[in-house]
Amino acid sequence: MRIEAVRTHLLDHRLDHAFESASMRFDRRQHCLVEIVCEDGTVGWGECLGPAGPNAGVVAAYAARLVGRDPLETEKIWLELTNALRDQGQRGLTVTALSGIDIALWDIKGKHFGVPVSTLLGGRFRETVRAYATGSFRKDGVEPVADISAEVAGYRAEGFHAVKIKIGFDVEEDLRVIAAVRDAIGPDVRLMIDGNHGYDVLEAIEVGCRAWDYGIDWFEEPVLPEQLSAYHAVRDGQPIPVAGGETWHGRYGFEEPLRTRAVDIAQPDICGTGGFTEIRRVADLAALHGVRLAPHVWGTGVAIAASLQFIAALAPNPPRRSPIEPILEFDRTPNPFRQAVLATPIDHTDGVVAIPDGPGLGIEIDRAALETYALKDD
Ligand SMILES: [Mg+2]
Repeated sequence: MRIEAVRTHLLDHRLDHAFESASMRFDRRQHCLVEIVCEDGTVGWGECLGPAGPNAGVVAAYAARLVGRDPLETEKIWLELTNALRDQGQRGLTVTALSGIDIALWDIKGKHFGVPVSTLLGGRFRETVRAYATGSFRKDGVEPVADISAEVAGYRAEGFHAVKIKIGFDVEEDLRVIAAVRDAIGPDVRLMIDGNHGYDVLEAIEVGCRAWDYGIDWFEEPVLPEQLSAYHAVRDGQPIPVAGGETWHGRYGFEEPLRTRAVDIAQPDICGTGGFTEIRRVADLAALHGVRLAPHVWGTGVAIAASLQFIAALAPNPPRRSPIEPILEFDRTPNPFRQAVLATPIDHTDGVVAIPDGPGLGIEIDRAALETYALKDD
């Protein structure tokens, strides 16, 4: 079995209404899928977290090293590609691009052996996972308190057991949003807050202290991801568990935050931290240090499917009669191609998602949707 071609698909949709997190504005949705084709006709799919065009450029730089290779040799290929750009690329786009390639190779491996990736990873601990709704981005010219309250009430009505809202804009306004959201979802729905590194340490501590009474499960990315000492200060200075890691790349990116317990909950993204090959090592590190794992998910159905295979095989830590179950981040923001790229969408029922059990990632790609949403200009 040999790799014949490596392709990228840049998907694009211009939004009618832009939305913002504390650190990013979205007026378009763009994602980069990776397609690896083998000489025997087997095709694998992966996805890269982050800017689509630059990711595609790095995938193209790796591609020449992949053609003619045995796609089953995922560990050897991962190491070779890492070494190829290591001196200038220990984190960032080199790793996000490699993630998309690695996921596609594992998809091929699963199809070759006729089993889901989760079986190759050691077996499925679960067939379903509870999803939490991610939303509440700010919109131009829209008053956020009423808008976000109505949005999260909708998630509760859909059956989600938990919602995550965006803060990191303005301390007082953010606290008004948190209070209104708790009111809208009632006492039983879990609530997480995501600062998208919009605060400095003092602001984050103030928000954490004042938001504690609203029953917050975790405080995500309170400060800049590079500032590990600031993470520690936030952990020490306020009572809400701190989460982070969606921009930390690979085991070297996670080693210090996990060893020093900069976070209570680690959030590696399989499409950003090195694919199946590397996220397993990150999960092992988290287990080693007793840090809870809650994978970050932000992309198309390919990213969701890859995350689900990883989650299926994620060992309980600690093992016990009723172990702590992982949860799935379920993006509810506008993105018409998120599910359209899949022949069978991955949806939730009352906030629960079934983990596909077909070979590889367990999905089929709708090539007509790739055409419909292909980037046509830049
Ligand atoms: Mg986040």
